[in-house]
Amino acid sequence: EYVNLIKLVEKVIQNLKPVAEGKGLSILFNPMIDLPVLYLDPNRMEQVIYNLIENAIKYSDQGEIRVSLEGDKEFIFIKIEDQGIGVPEKELSRIWERFYRVEKSRARKTGGTGLGLYVVKEIVQLHGGQIEAKSVEGKGTTMIIKFKRKDVVL
Ligand code: ATP
Ligand code: MG
Repeated sequence: EYVNLIKLVEKVIQNLKPVAEGKGLSILFNPMIDLPVLYLDPNRMEQVIYNLIENAIKYSDQGEIRVSLEGDKEFIFIKIEDQGIGVPEKELSRIWERFYRVEKSRARKTGGTGLGLYVVKEIVQLHGGQIEAKSVEGKGTTMIIKFKRKDVVL
């Protein structure tokens, strides 16, 4: 199905904004102007964006959450960046595992099953894409989804 990714992201942000504002966090969205309509499963892609922004909110006490859509000739990137607690380097590769939660997150009493990112990665890969996490403990986390243009633009 052809999906307007900008509208999809805006919808998710509208839904999560009250949660973010409840914690004093703001969400900024910066779409690139010439993003084409993409061939994606809208419900599943909404779930992906929702899970990632939900995590950004859940694992932040301060700062901004920046969502951006970018592209070059070959790829389209969706980035979700936070200034939250981050993930320790030695645990970063494990966050995609089913039921894995970083020890500190458990201690923080933030609820969760540890399934979110597992599902996110599955969905992204089903669309032919990749997802990568960059994080610095105590500074923040950036999630980057990458689609080959030829896989999602028809
Ligand atoms: P849920 O199934 O409700 O999403 P969850 O948020 O604990 O539970 P995941 O979304 O799979 O599970 O994330 C796995 C773990 O990765 C989290 O428990 C947390 O420790 C860490 N994590 C994920 N996103 C972030 C983030 N933006 N900042 C810091 N840690 C994160
Ligand atoms: Mg989660």
